[in-house]
Amino acid sequence: MKKIIVISVFLFLGLSIKAFSQTVYTSPKGEKYHTADCRLSGEAAPVKLADAKKAGKGACDICKPNELGKARLNQCTGKTKEGARCKRMTANKDKKCYQHQGK
Ligand SMILES: [Zn+2]
Ligand SMILES: [Zn+2]
Repeated sequence: MKKIIVISVFLFLGLSIKAFSQTVYTSPKGEKYHTADCRLSGEAAPVKLADAKKAGKGACDICKPNELGKARLNQCTGKTKEGARCKRMTANKDKKCYQHQGK
């Protein structure tokens, strides 16, 4: 029985560390942080979720960066105009950011 408790504590710790190392997007002027594919993340730069919280920023009401599942980001498989791989991260199932979706 003890073993199970130890394992679940480790699982819990692992999950919370993952949550705090989550990358969110925020702009210096913005009061909110966003997921990569939020339409409001425009000029935002990637920061660690914990740092965004430390800076006193709140979660965006539109993209809800704190929701489970949003943490699993993939690099967009789209290409920029210059032909390089898009650097945006996205939680979309088709691995395309909002800019490359449907293209
Ligand atoms: Zn947002
Ligand atoms: Zn893209």
